[in-house]
Amino acid sequence: MPGDVPEGEAWRFGTFKDPKITQEVKFSGERRRCKHCLIYKPDRCHHCRICKSCILKMDHHCPWIMNCIGFRNHKYFFLLIIYSMLCCGFIGITVFETIVWSLEQEMPISHRFLLLLCFSTTSIMGGLLVMFAGFHTMLMLRGLTTIEFCEKMSIVTSGTCCKYDLGVYRNITAVFGPRPYLWLLPVDPPVGDGVIFGKQARHRADNDPEWLEP
Ligand SMILES: [Zn+2]
Ligand SMILES: [Zn+2]
Repeated sequence: MPGDVPEGEAWRFGTFKDPKITQEVKFSGERRRCKHCLIYKPDRCHHCRICKSCILKMDHHCPWIMNCIGFRNHKYFFLLIIYSMLCCGFIGITVFETIVWSLEQEMPISHRFLLLLCFSTTSIMGGLLVMFAGFHTMLMLRGLTTIEFCEKMSIVTSGTCCKYDLGVYRNITAVFGPRPYLWLLPVDPPVGDGVIFGKQARHRADNDPEWLEP
């Protein structure tokens, strides 16, 4: 699952030991609550109407994988984009060589058509993936999710720092996990519970080495 809200009375009834466990509030100043799931929402959590569930650190609902992208699968989503992009690059380069070779060979026109179709499809798909990867990398480096970027675009573009921005390196570890040599492998998810972020998480990390090095 992309990230379920922890079960328990605290999230259902709002009986938190630490009243500052959530910082985000509604316009009215009340604690955020999901009217569909009947629970209080942790910071960065949003309800997805398609998945019918509240998703921790929700990024967006992805129609390509028919699932939400949230705290627990953000890394795998990123790896999917990166490896799909590399795949398109590999196919594009090798097919281009074959197209050049085919110009000097006798072959049915349908074969040339299929080669060109493969090259153009790969180029379009690869181009879109490069733009998509660039956009999501920019968000990751700033410590933002897609929803937060859309909600707070005016704040971001005016140069105000996002409250979940922990610096470039920590922002990357918040998505790809604490060990750089495992960043490109589908293991070693990010540390944390998907509930506490920003300065609170940093404070916890500074006091507790287990937070960054499990
Ligand atoms: Zn909900
Ligand atoms: Zn969803």
